[in-house]
Amino acid sequence: MSKTPGEVLEMARKNNIQMVDLKFIDLPGTWQHFSVPLDEFDEGAFTSGVGFDGSSIRGFKTINESDMILVPDPDTAFIDPFCDVPTLSLVCNVYDPMTGQNYNRDPRFVAKKAEAYLKETGIADTSYWGPEAEFFILDHVRFDQSQYAGYYFLDSDEGFWNSGAEMNGHPNLGYRPRYKEGYFPVPPTDTLQNLRTEMVLLLKQMGIAVEAHHHEVATAGQGEIDMKYAPLTRMADQLMMFKYVVKNVAIKHNKTATFMPKPVFQDNGSGMHVHQSLWKGNEPLFYDANGYAGLSELALYYIGGLLKHAPVLTAFCSPTTNSFKRLVPGFEAPVNLVYSQRNRSAAIRIPMYSSSPAAKRIEYRPPDPSCNPYLAFAALLMAGLDGIKNKIHPGEPLDKDIYDLPPEEAARVKSLPGSLEEAIAALEKDHEFLLQGGVFDEDLINAWIEYKQKQEINQIKLRPHPYEFVLYYDV
Ligand code: GLU
Ligand code: MG
Ligand code: MG
Repeated sequence: MSKTPGEVLEMARKNNIQMVDLKFIDLPGTWQHFSVPLDEFDEGAFTSGVGFDGSSIRGFKTINESDMILVPDPDTAFIDPFCDVPTLSLVCNVYDPMTGQNYNRDPRFVAKKAEAYLKETGIADTSYWGPEAEFFILDHVRFDQSQYAGYYFLDSDEGFWNSGAEMNGHPNLGYRPRYKEGYFPVPPTDTLQNLRTEMVLLLKQMGIAVEAHHHEVATAGQGEIDMKYAPLTRMADQLMMFKYVVKNVAIKHNKTATFMPKPVFQDNGSGMHVHQSLWKGNEPLFYDANGYAGLSELALYYIGGLLKHAPVLTAFCSPTTNSFKRLVPGFEAPVNLVYSQRNRSAAIRIPMYSSSPAAKRIEYRPPDPSCNPYLAFAALLMAGLDGIKNKIHPGEPLDKDIYDLPPEEAARVKSLPGSLEEAIAALEKDHEFLLQGGVFDEDLINAWIEYKQKQEINQIKLRPHPYEFVLYYDV
């Protein structure tokens, strides 16, 4: 599927393209963009790039060193389905004009380096990634901030959605699934079938293979669309396209989509379980018919690396203060740093749907879709490789329900960090494994820590929480 710049321009001419939209990823993981008329855009852009001011981009440069260059990746070309005028979209790498090199804080560069490092180790040549990004589609009006705070937090016994249904004069139309019962009755209980289908058809049109879509467990319009696995950077690109499609189809229908991990109290949150496997010369490396759950020794070491570094990985995989409202017992989100073929409270599950060696993979469950997929996938790969290189055995699997374990045994099971602050502290202490092969660097890690601390953790700390009014207003 590799394309040359010439082929991209040919595609533009064939489709009467008038605008070329250049997209790149900021540090937290949101697409940014600007457009260039096609007659201002030629093959040279693919080598010398297009300049922009990087000073106001989150996590990027300061104002006195702000000139940056975008170099489009021809393989990422797609026709943007949401523009009124035919528009060609290209995902770009960010370059620093001072050095002529890739910009070290460009998340896409980190992902590319992780793929190169994998090859360099000789362990494998390709990693495959299958994220299951869940999301909520909600009505604009119902999520008006003031209403939300009032109903959601002050009326918790009755439940947000029941009272929410009456909000702003909206009638309760019935067939509303109860909390955690959205998985998955047919319409009219599932109100989002047509929207998800519209999303899937657009994704396919944009060159993304989709395996299935369905309503998810939460009552309030939670959905999931599963893409077919793809290599690391390609999958991170696809995830950006995926979010773009989900959000824009929702808006077209006067709704909003959110990838916020825990928007609704007392209901399931949105996770992004990440299925992953390593391959060498077209051979899957995670399979061994005689191993536990069909896993090879190499896969066990990979798991060992993930579990060892899980607290640090959380800083990239569950990177918002809201992420930790999802990572609590009782909502199918993981809490325990164990692996298992069954246990959904385990951080790592080994799917047993298929006995084919090619399908053997591990499912890492802590991530959520608020992550920057380039950094999250790269960090996961680095942790897994650290496990393989240092033969970190993950110990015995935990197939029993953790709540049935004798207390001494349960106490030995480690859990994920309880807050973004703890995750960031873990990243500060343990990031040697991320620096291997120059995949991550100190500057990017420090920028990440500073951004999370100042823009998110401190900002949340400063503000009174709506539930504090319930607890303390009448003290
Ligand atoms: N929504 C759950 C989570 O937060 C996952 C549900 C599922 O197993 O797909 O991880
Ligand atoms: Mg799911
Ligand atoms: Mg899953």
